[in-house]
Amino acid sequence: MSDRKACGPHAVLGSNPSVRITQCPCGTVHVTFVSNGVTLRINEDSLRGITHGLMAALDKVEEREGVRVN
Ligand SMILES: [Zn+2]
Repeated sequence: MSDRKACGPHAVLGSNPSVRITQCPCGTVHVTFVSNGVTLRINEDSLRGITHGLMAALDKVEEREGVRVN
Protein backbone atom coordinates (compact mmCIF):
# COMPACT_ATOMS: atom_id res chain seq x y z
CA MET A 1 0.00 0.00 0.00
CA SER A 2 1.60 3.25 -1.10
CA ASP A 3 -0.08 5.35 1.61
CA ARG A 4 1.65 3.29 4.29
CA LYS A 5 5.17 3.91 5.52
CA ALA A 6 7.80 1.19 5.38
CA CYS A 7 8.43 -1.04 8.35
CA GLY A 8 10.62 0.46 11.07
CA PRO A 9 10.87 0.92 14.83
CA HIS A 10 7.61 0.26 16.63
CA ALA A 11 5.73 2.79 18.73
CA VAL A 12 4.37 1.41 22.02
CA LEU A 13 0.59 1.81 22.14
CA GLY A 14 0.09 0.13 25.48
CA SER A 15 1.92 -2.09 27.91
CA ASN A 16 1.07 -3.84 31.17
CA PRO A 17 2.12 -7.10 32.90
CA SER A 18 -0.31 -9.08 30.70
CA VAL A 19 0.00 -7.59 27.27
CA ARG A 20 2.14 -5.28 25.20
CA ILE A 21 0.82 -3.54 22.10
CA THR A 22 3.09 -1.85 19.60
CA GLN A 23 2.56 -0.44 16.12
CA CYS A 24 4.89 -0.57 13.15
CA PRO A 25 5.09 2.54 10.94
CA CYS A 26 3.50 0.41 8.18
CA GLY A 27 0.33 0.30 10.30
CA THR A 28 0.53 -3.29 11.56
CA VAL A 29 -0.36 -3.61 15.23
CA HIS A 30 1.50 -6.26 17.24
CA VAL A 31 -0.25 -7.64 20.32
CA THR A 32 2.12 -9.70 22.49
CA PHE A 33 0.76 -11.81 25.34
CA VAL A 34 3.42 -11.71 28.04
CA SER A 35 2.41 -15.04 29.61
CA ASN A 36 3.19 -17.15 26.53
CA GLY A 37 5.10 -14.79 24.28
CA VAL A 38 2.58 -15.17 21.46
CA THR A 39 2.32 -12.16 19.18
CA LEU A 40 -0.71 -11.41 17.03
CA ARG A 41 -0.20 -9.19 14.00
CA ILE A 42 -3.40 -7.36 13.21
CA ASN A 43 -4.59 -4.15 11.58
CA GLU A 44 -6.24 -1.18 13.28
CA ASP A 45 -9.75 -2.37 12.41
CA SER A 46 -9.05 -5.71 14.06
CA LEU A 47 -7.61 -3.93 17.10
CA ARG A 48 -10.88 -2.05 17.42
CA GLY A 49 -12.98 -5.18 17.00
CA ILE A 50 -10.89 -7.26 19.41
CA THR A 51 -10.87 -4.49 22.02
CA HIS A 52 -14.64 -4.08 21.91
CA GLY A 53 -15.05 -7.85 22.17
CA LEU A 54 -12.78 -8.00 25.21
CA MET A 55 -14.53 -5.06 26.85
CA ALA A 56 -17.90 -6.75 26.39
CA ALA A 57 -16.50 -9.96 27.90
CA LEU A 58 -15.01 -8.08 30.85
CA ASP A 59 -18.34 -6.34 31.45
CA LYS A 60 -20.03 -9.75 31.70
CA VAL A 61 -17.36 -11.13 34.06
CA GLU A 62 -17.50 -8.11 36.35
CA GLU A 63 -21.28 -8.15 36.28
CA ARG A 64 -21.17 -11.77 37.46
CA GLU A 65 -18.55 -11.01 40.12
CA GLY A 66 -20.71 -8.12 41.32
CA VAL A 67 -23.69 -10.45 41.70
CA ARG A 68 -21.57 -12.95 43.61
CA VAL A 69 -20.20 -10.33 46.02
CA ASN A 70 -23.58 -8.75 46.82
ZN1 LIG B 1 5.62 -3.15 9.37
